[in-house]
Amino acid sequence: MALIVQKFGGTSVGSVERIEQVAAKVKKFRDNGDDIVVVVSAMSGETNRLIELAKQISEQPVARELDVMVSTGEQVTIALLAMALIKIGVPAVSYTGGQVRILTDSAHTKARILQIDAQHIHKELKAGRVVVVAGFQGVDDCGNITTLGRGGSDTTGVALAAALKADECQIYTDVDGVYTTDPRVVAKAQRLDKITFEEMLEMASLGSKVLQIRAVEFAGKYSVPLRVLHSFQEGPGTLITLDEEESMEQPIISGIAFNRDEAKLTIRGVPDTPGVAFKILGPISAANVEVDMIVQNVAHDNTTDFTFTVHRNDYHNALHVLESIARDMGAREVIGDVDIAKVSIVGVGMRSHAGVASRMFEALAKENINIQMISTSEIKVSVVIEEKYLELAVRALHTAFELDAPAGKGE
Ligand code: ADP
Ligand code: ASP
Ligand code: MG
Repeated sequence: MALIVQKFGGTSVGSVERIEQVAAKVKKFRDNGDDIVVVVSAMSGETNRLIELAKQISEQPVARELDVMVSTGEQVTIALLAMALIKIGVPAVSYTGGQVRILTDSAHTKARILQIDAQHIHKELKAGRVVVVAGFQGVDDCGNITTLGRGGSDTTGVALAAALKADECQIYTDVDGVYTTDPRVVAKAQRLDKITFEEMLEMASLGSKVLQIRAVEFAGKYSVPLRVLHSFQEGPGTLITLDEEESMEQPIISGIAFNRDEAKLTIRGVPDTPGVAFKILGPISAANVEVDMIVQNVAHDNTTDFTFTVHRNDYHNALHVLESIARDMGAREVIGDVDIAKVSIVGVGMRSHAGVASRMFEALAKENINIQMISTSEIKVSVVIEEKYLELAVRALHTAFELDAPAGKGE
């Protein structure tokens, strides 16, 4: 008998019929003798709908109140799933994050889990019930409702699995595993049987939304066995694993991630003196804006051009700060660009292969795609390109690194 935490995402609980299908699936596991804790998201589209509603009152709603509101999405689905389970003869009980006591810090809309009280859940399991827990939400030590950031139900699932010392955390979604890249963009993408935590963490942080970054961090930190599976199709899914097999078969690249969430800012003609980077990025960071990629070029006339990327949500704020910095420093001009995208290749195989970056640049050059910025780490290379070439770039790289499914095997 095993203890399994099963997390079902928004599309998997997107209608009453789907919720009943999920209940039937949970029943099957329970009939096998396993103890089951289920974590659910809000019905698909519901969180967006609630955020839009809040924005009709205020463009920047007060974060505490936004959390009170968006957490209702998950409260609906836990109750519906518990009802559906009870209807088919499975004793079940629903719990909100606060009722479990998923204790978080007070950073509304992006709270971090600090502690989980597993005692209520253990008691319910002992009494023979399936416990259905609301994803994405917690409570701070003053009793305020908090949420964990978009996609946060994955993190609830993994954190609960860690706290309960579950045998496995299964993330059920609308694809049958983690693919070499988003299968909705590249039809020839292939499902991976396994991927290392390290690679999954890079993929998630570089834009693959199949798992929330913090869920992967948690799973790695607490060694939670984690698997991504399709909610309604049978299959082995993808195992996120600790071991990095050093086999000859190790592909150089495991996957390609991309995102359209960033914007680029350039300050041109800044007098080149020591401390320039700090003078520019200090106020940006003081304005609570996180910077991702950075490039600095020095010209012959002793001035420098400094370019960096930020999250698109922070673009206007960053532009405003940069314009004031430019005035203070006597810079020539400030240029902003939101029509950019970041494409990254990820793989632990890169460690043992030279020339991976140049192969990437060659593939993009062949398609006439201009690279605006580059950043590398031990297991990834990222480039910023014009957004309109994003899909072309991802497909070209997928082919260049031999990730395409053999004919007839793709979706
Ligand atoms: P859920 O609502 O179940 O949490 P998400 O929409 O958050 O589902 O995540 C699943 C989606 O992630 C898929 O539909 C797919 O389009 C996208 N995705 C992006 N990159 C990948 C990848 N490398 N492998 C699989 N899916 C990916
Ligand atoms: N409902 C939340 C969201 O849409 C959390 C989740 O689905 O994981 O972001
Ligand atoms: Mg998700």
